[in-house]
Amino acid sequence: MPAEHATALVLRCVDFSESSLIVTLFTREFGKIEALAKGAKRLKNPFDSALDLMCLCRIVFLRKASEALDLVTEAKLLRRFRCPGGDLAPLYAGYYVAELLRDLTARYDPLPELFDLAEAAFQGLSRGQPVWRWVFRFELGMLRLLGHIPSLETCVVCGRSVQAAVRAAFDPVQGGVVCPSCRTSQPQGSQTLTVDQGFLRSTAVLADPGHPAADRIELDPARRGQLRHLLNQVIVNLLGRPPRMHAYLPLMMHEADRRKTLAGNREKDLRPLPEGSLPQECSPGGGTKG
Ligand SMILES: [Zn+2]
Repeated sequence: MPAEHATALVLRCVDFSESSLIVTLFTREFGKIEALAKGAKRLKNPFDSALDLMCLCRIVFLRKASEALDLVTEAKLLRRFRCPGGDLAPLYAGYYVAELLRDLTARYDPLPELFDLAEAAFQGLSRGQPVWRWVFRFELGMLRLLGHIPSLETCVVCGRSVQAAVRAAFDPVQGGVVCPSCRTSQPQGSQTLTVDQGFLRSTAVLADPGHPAADRIELDPARRGQLRHLLNQVIVNLLGRPPRMHAYLPLMMHEADRRKTLAGNREKDLRPLPEGSLPQECSPGGGTKG
């Protein structure tokens, strides 16, 4: 059984025994893996405190046959997720990115571009960049890389371009925009919204991780609300249920409101997540050494 080397993001760590952890990692080279880290909770261990939620690390692991857990034998910490200024929104957004990676990717399906996007999101969030923009960029970029991005330019029913229309109907259940003639001939889904070309263009920029304007595009609150509504539908349809971190999206999406609340009622806003609400079972920065 040859030892494999990989760069990995830690998506989850759960106790396996008094001394060991089971970790879910998203690796650049192999995609998602699940592995046992023997002795990770001991004071002396070969994991360099790297097996913490949202850490970036280099790992050595033994790949097991079939459904058995892999065995991670070494880890070296490259970067830890930092929560800027005691603000919980970037942290929750990081949990959300980890949850989507965990629940929407398959084991041993390498997606290096998705790895790079997640790594960029963790870095941007750690640096205090706007949370709403990274949440949208990650959701849309991930949908694009997984082949689930809604159609933004051509009608999902007839395939004709909608770019000449000032406004278009967007049906998240059908998977994108619907042209005016199909809109009148088709029954309208209850989730259908009317959107304008500016909305569609901004969404296309946010969905393209390599777009030069992706890291500075602005969306007014009305368009953010529209995009949030549409993405919620698309992601819930894909997963068959709402992601656990969707409960905290209002906190992540409304920068100005959040700053006001933070300033006005710091204690209330900084209370910990309720029991069982975290998508992961260990917190970032908490020791895996016990
Ligand atoms: Zn059409």
